Order: sequence, then C-alpha cells, then structure tokens
Amino acid sequence: MEDIRNFSFEELVEKFKKLGHQEFRVRQLFKWLYDKCCTDFSLMTDISKQFRIFLSENYEINRLEVVDTLQSEDGTIKFLFKTQFGDYVESVLIPIDGRITACLSSQIGCAMGCVFCNTGDRGFERNLDTWEILAQLIEMVIFSNQKPSNIVFMGMGEPLANYNNVVKAIKILENKYGFGYSPRKITLSTSGYADKIEQLGKDVSVKLAVSLNAVTDSVRDKIMPINKKYPLKTLMASLKKYPLMKDEEITIAYVLIEGLNDSPEDAKKLVELLKGLTVKVNLIAYNCWGDRDFKTPSMAKILAFQKVLKEQGIMTFIRDSKGADIMAACGQLRGEYEKKVS
Ligand code: SF4
Repeated sequence: MEDIRNFSFEELVEKFKKLGHQEFRVRQLFKWLYDKCCTDFSLMTDISKQFRIFLSENYEINRLEVVDTLQSEDGTIKFLFKTQFGDYVESVLIPIDGRITACLSSQIGCAMGCVFCNTGDRGFERNLDTWEILAQLIEMVIFSNQKPSNIVFMGMGEPLANYNNVVKAIKILENKYGFGYSPRKITLSTSGYADKIEQLGKDVSVKLAVSLNAVTDSVRDKIMPINKKYPLKTLMASLKKYPLMKDEEITIAYVLIEGLNDSPEDAKKLVELLKGLTVKVNLIAYNCWGDRDFKTPSMAKILAFQKVLKEQGIMTFIRDSKGADIMAACGQLRGEYEKKVS
C-alpha cells in the first residue's frame, strides 16, 4: 500500500471521484492529514466510518521515527528521523526573529558534491518520497506542538534533483485545505540547477534562494561541481526568467571562504553578475568542519565585502549560521548520529 501523502489534492479528488466520492471528502482528509497532523485514519472522527475503513484498507500513513533530537543554545532543534528503510533524515527547527522556520531535507545524501558541504561529502543515497518530505514537518509539529511559520528546503539534498516529489510537496504545503502556507512562506534553495529553475517557476509559486558562492566559473567549478553542467552564464539567465512574486527578490547565498572568494574584487564581480536581477544577498562565513583546508574569513573582510555590495545598492546581510554548535548549520547536515546509533 502507498502512503496517502504521496498524492496531491487533485490526484486524490480524481481517484475518489471514480469511486463515487465527492471532493469534500478530500478536503476533510487534507484537514486531518496536514492541518491537524493526524497519523491515524481511525481518529478522523468527522469522516464517515465506512470511508475511514476504505482509506485504511487502501492507503497507509507512515511515521518517521524521531530517534534523536539536539537543541542548540540559540533555540535551534535538530531532529534525526529513521525512515521505514532504516536510513536517516535530518530536519531542523530554527527560531529567527520571533518566527519558527522548518528546514526540510529532500534527499538522503546529495550528488552535487559541493566541497564545502558535509552532506555532499557523503554522496547520494536516494530521493525522499513526497510523504517523507511532508512527514518531517508533521513529526516536528507533533513533537514541538507548534506549527512553523516558514518552510525552507535547505536540508540534505538538492531539492531540484528530486523535482517531482518536491514540487508535489510544495503544492500540498500550499493547499488551503491542508497546511495552507502562503507561497511567500516557502523558500526553495538550490545549488544552481538551471533548467529546473525555469521549470519550477512555471509549476509552482515559491521563493527562490541560490547558493552562489563564487563569481568566476573557474572557482565555482572547483567548489560546486554542478557549475560544470550549468555555468554562471546559464545560471544567471535562468534566474532572470524566474517569475518573482510582488515585492519579492531572489536570495543569493554566498558562503565566504578565506582567500578563495572573499576579496573586494570578488565583491565587485558579484555586483556585475547580479546586474538586472532583483536580489538580496546573504553572506555566510564558512563553517569549518572536518579536515577541509578552507578557513573562515575575518569579520573585517566580511564587512569589507558587504560594503562593496551595499554601495552599489544591493541589499546585503551577514547571516549567522544558526545552530552551528550542533552541526545543524547550512552545509553541515550530516549523519553523525548514524555512527552513534549504528
Ligand atoms: S550544499 Fe546542498 S547541493 Fe551542495 S552538496 Fe550540500 S546539500 Fe548538496
């Protein structure tokens, strides 16, 4: 049997219609599954008993098992979930400016191989199903008893490399009978999967963040291998075509690495590269981990980089890596617990 959360609202309406059930059944079901985060058909009390039996005989609602949590000093909570297949998914709840943001994973491991990233270092294992993406949020709501205000696809994996499952999850997150998230509350972060960026803009409304991290192809090729497939020119062209919501911009994430991409000249090239785009730039100091040679730049260098961008009218922020003390910071999600619990 398949998990019912692998189906979109429209797909369920279509399926049930053929069996003589009306659309309001799916509305009821979505309310239970997502608004109430219910994981048991038998508890959906305003749905007729007969229909509940039909659901339980034909579909499953699986759980992700919370095997560990870790709370950071800044309030960030990292979750380690065990899937039905015995592998592990990590998700994070991050408190920022009075809001709670849920950071979801889209894959187990990642094939993109960004050299500054802990997840990329372990290689690709598999795509997560739509229900496994949604269940991360559902389990975090059940655990913390609060619904996050924002969702970011910034956990393990390149979301656009698991395109169909991620897009379906976004549609369900935005469905008014379920979670009901506004498109402005959901951000998808990509390493620069240019052809899928264009497609994404056609299929759903969602805020876009791009992990850029270099201003020349030679440097980007070195630190983000996806650049060999989609070089900067191609990537920038795809961003220009991405449909922005009113008063929104594309977020450009730029991890500053000492001596590699953090000079004022790099900042000037970045200004050139971003011409014609509506963006804000988040500067993030590289988080040292493992045996990488990369180093974190000084705050003076970060401020000098920011100054060049700001002088050219580009909104530029220096971001903390929330949860850095529990390895939950961007680019540092890794199955550390797998070792612990295996
Ligand atoms: S930064 Fe993102 S895209 Fe790059 S390897 Fe890590 S998880 Fe994958």
